[in-house]
Amino acid sequence: MKAIVIGAGIGGMSAAIALEKAGFTTAVFEAVKEMKPVGAAISIWPNGVKCLNALGMKASLRALGGNMAFMAYNDAHSGATLTRFSMDPLVQQVGEHPYPVARAELQAMLIDTYGRSRIGFGKRVTQVEQTATGVTAWFDDGSQQQADFLIAADGTHSVIRHYVLGESVERRYAGYVNWNGLVTIDESIAPADQWTTFVGEGKRVSLMPVSGNRFYFFFDVPLPKGLPEDRSTLKDDLRGYFAGWADPVQRLIDAINPETTNRVEIHDIEPFSQFVKGRVALLGDAAHSTTPDIGQGGCAAMEDAIVLAQTLAAHSLGIEDGLLRYQARRVERTKDLVLKARKRCDVTHAKDAAITAAWYQELKNETGERVLAGMCDTIEGGPLG
Ligand code: FAD
Repeated sequence: MKAIVIGAGIGGMSAAIALEKAGFTTAVFEAVKEMKPVGAAISIWPNGVKCLNALGMKASLRALGGNMAFMAYNDAHSGATLTRFSMDPLVQQVGEHPYPVARAELQAMLIDTYGRSRIGFGKRVTQVEQTATGVTAWFDDGSQQQADFLIAADGTHSVIRHYVLGESVERRYAGYVNWNGLVTIDESIAPADQWTTFVGEGKRVSLMPVSGNRFYFFFDVPLPKGLPEDRSTLKDDLRGYFAGWADPVQRLIDAINPETTNRVEIHDIEPFSQFVKGRVALLGDAAHSTTPDIGQGGCAAMEDAIVLAQTLAAHSLGIEDGLLRYQARRVERTKDLVLKARKRCDVTHAKDAAITAAWYQELKNETGERVLAGMCDTIEGGPLG
């Protein structure tokens, strides 16, 4: 049995590796000639880590991951710690560590595990068709490929989603802009082994350690969609948005490199329930696009890959039946993640200022138990427990 996998992002590569481990032959096609991930880094929560472990990348992932031993929220203006707690109870409960990793390194790990030379780069799919026995994908260079089934991991702007659903879906602007990048660790900004977040005014500034003595940083600011993006004013823009914020935030703005800082208008997609049409299945952001507010989009793509390979390998009523079983196991789980992230997004970014003010107050009494319980619940809902 052969699968065409469209997209060499986190979802496509995880799916291709998982399918090959389950005994399928795969061919991966990627639109771009060279991968340039949209964000600087990503936090892989233990549900995602368990998926990568199961796909044989345990040691490589650990080498890339930062040591996020503690978590803290600080007040925007005074910089005072609102709450700080160990992540150890989470690790003990779910049986695995979270790993923040640089995206380019995660991407390289996935691609090298699969085999870089085996991927068809510069192959943009334009159309797919299927018969009772197989699928055909057409590419913008005029070529075509045939296989028994096709996995569409072509991201949030998926072209294959329209084929599967029979209609287009609109992305929903979540109301805020995120700037992210990597910077050398400076402990006068935040401790090296801690996920530190400064909160106030519906904005946040966050730092997570990744390997190589680097912080993954991000700034969130509620803003209208479509403002011009200008690297030459990026630092001054941030200084304006974070005027009056604590010294570590100012030091971080001083330290960042505008040339390597990404600016992303954050979107999600209203969850839908159809991931499969016959022999074609959506996976990752193509199937469920979330805001990054609980750091689960990439993890959900890894979970999809594990479940896809499990269901196809374990059942014998044919590809269409196996794909429908994949859909049945993923629709509710991913809907839950998207809606949880949307809720967190609204509280963090002051969709209702009173609710956000109450959350800032709650943080002063937070011992870690409530926050970690919510995270454990999300993590343990994954396919590997
Ligand atoms: P993508 O990564 O978008 O990959 C799709 C691939 O398909 C691309 O390489 C693209 O070039 C290719 N492609 C597109 N169209 C075609 C075509 N027609 N033909 C061939 N190839 C095509 N997730 C987490 O788990 N933890 C986090 O901390 C986290 N933080 C985030 C922070 C930000 C700011 C953002 C924006 C997202 C974050 N996410 C996080 C979400 C995560 O990045 C995505 O969920 C994940 O990258 C989805 O992977 P994917 O493979 O489905 O899609």
